[in-house]
Amino acid sequence: RAKQEGRNAYRLYRCDIDVQARDHLTMETDLRNTVEHGDGLEMAYQPLVSRQTGALVSAEALLRWHHPTRGLISPDEFIPVAERSGLIIPLGERVLEMVLGQIRTWQDQGIQPVPVAINLSARQFWQEGFIDTVIAKLSHYKVAPSAISFELTESTLLNKQAQGIEILQRLRQLGCRIAIDDFGTGYSSLSYLQELPIDTLKIDRSFTRTLGGEKRGNGAIVAAVSGLARELDLCLVAEGVETQEQWDILGTYQVEMIQGFLTGHPMNSDDFTQRLMARPSKVLPYQKARNTSS
Ligand code: C2E
Ligand code: MG
Ligand code: MG
Ligand code: MG
Repeated sequence: RAKQEGRNAYRLYRCDIDVQARDHLTMETDLRNTVEHGDGLEMAYQPLVSRQTGALVSAEALLRWHHPTRGLISPDEFIPVAERSGLIIPLGERVLEMVLGQIRTWQDQGIQPVPVAINLSARQFWQEGFIDTVIAKLSHYKVAPSAISFELTESTLLNKQAQGIEILQRLRQLGCRIAIDDFGTGYSSLSYLQELPIDTLKIDRSFTRTLGGEKRGNGAIVAAVSGLARELDLCLVAEGVETQEQWDILGTYQVEMIQGFLTGHPMNSDDFTQRLMARPSKVLPYQKARNTSS
């Protein structure tokens, strides 16, 4: 009897794997079509705000894929497929183009944008000619390098520190800023962090989530990363902030920037444009127009 169940369980398992493999293959084919034809892809923008003033200071660009039949698919689902298949290279270029195109549009409309962070997969980062692509796209859209930053995870640089540092240095010499994403979940040693030419640490959502809970030591990691950021002169961002309580606690740890549902979900470009225009800015478009006409 047990043997019988065991065999059934095995069959079920096998079947799952087959379904999974087929799904991935289908998704890869669909994604390839999407990348080639360019429709169905869109960027969402999520606000990063100053913990001290609440002001909008930056944005993270997050890729959205509207699948022709399945609807919206999460990047956590399709980015791994893109990475495995190599599609991440043309897809990443599309992301760069969409973000730079958006920044160009804002500037043409007289709207002062905030710096926009772009996520990089390891494969993109290590792709030969990646920096040349960045330079070419920046110049095509006439966007300053300081208008964008790149986010990469610790694992991207794993085992290849020296070469990685070289690429990071070149990006920063251009004027682009660099953030380490999901910090605390990877395997990088702290001494190695000291060597990295980066600007920002983003504390992973998993450490924000437990803040204020009962578990002993909650906050200890945030406190440690905060100390590290201060010593290394890095900007510190907390990801995944959903409650006022978390916001308050993060203040006691001197976290400078907040990103999370509390201060804004990822939103389409029209909604983010509204958010940009709602800022109390020194150079509002109408003021600019008035100044030039007087
Ligand atoms: P990430 O770079 O760590 O992005 C943050 C993720 O956390 C986003 O998920 C965002 O929607 C979500 N998030 C933000 N605030 C909150 C919050 O308060 N609570 C919760 N529960 N979640 C929050 P999203 O957009 O689904 O993206 C998932 C991941 O996919 C990203 O994680 C990033 O690693 C990857 N990704 C997204 N866009 C791109 C892209 O253009 N290129 C590459 N290579 N990867 C991308
Ligand atoms: Mg990110
Ligand atoms: Mg993150
Ligand atoms: Mg992530």
